[in-house]
Amino acid sequence: MKKNIRPEIPRKAIYRLSLYLRCLLRLKNNSIRTVSSEALAKAAGVKSTQLRKDLTYFGQFGTRGLGYDVDQLAHMISDLLGTNSLQPVVLIGVGNLGLALLSYKGFAAEGFEIVGAFDIDPKRRRDKTIATPLYDMSQLESVIQARMVKMAILTVPAAAAQEVANRLVAVGITGILNFSPIVLTVPEDVIVNSVNLAIELENLSYFVQH
Ligand code: ATP
Repeated sequence: MKKNIRPEIPRKAIYRLSLYLRCLLRLKNNSIRTVSSEALAKAAGVKSTQLRKDLTYFGQFGTRGLGYDVDQLAHMISDLLGTNSLQPVVLIGVGNLGLALLSYKGFAAEGFEIVGAFDIDPKRRRDKTIATPLYDMSQLESVIQARMVKMAILTVPAAAAQEVANRLVAVGITGILNFSPIVLTVPEDVIVNSVNLAIELENLSYFVQH
């Protein structure tokens, strides 16, 4: 039987690891070499017991009394998250939102490279010029295969989202960041993170009123 070397890490813990990584990179930029679990936990806004528990996924590590080596911990976390080397990503649906995301410079800094954008109508005049190559949908499969892409950002209209998601899954995409306001049906081994901007605002609207 195949044995998993690492225990399955809960999704919430993965989000927290991303938070720790942000804090560690800030420390590193300020030339700080070691950090105590209390200080790191405080910076990330979690309890230090939680932080220590999350870091047990990496096994035994950290020097008692000295805290964590900032560089080493940052490296281990980004290794686990798969962002130590640039991860290729594709974006489908170059409308207003897709265009805005393509113009965002922050992805590369976090380890993601949008290697191609796809649209049913790539020739349509757009408000902005983009550096990312813009392909017709007929090239979706070949580009994904050639660049060995595993992740996709979906910014097509709701009516097209499921059909496009099916094509992505069929060609081997296993992570989808879905901005379309529908619930996608995908096989169990595919992860969908949905961002519905209107729902997020509605949620804030409730809290600012109460
Ligand atoms: P947004 O919703 O991102 O602000 P928009 O209002 O400009 O965009 P939408 O109608 O939402 O336009 O479409 C987003 C983009 O998705 C458009 O550029 C459209 O051409 C593209 N699109 C629509 N259907 C498909 C499809 N089946 N496959 C790929 N792209 C599609």
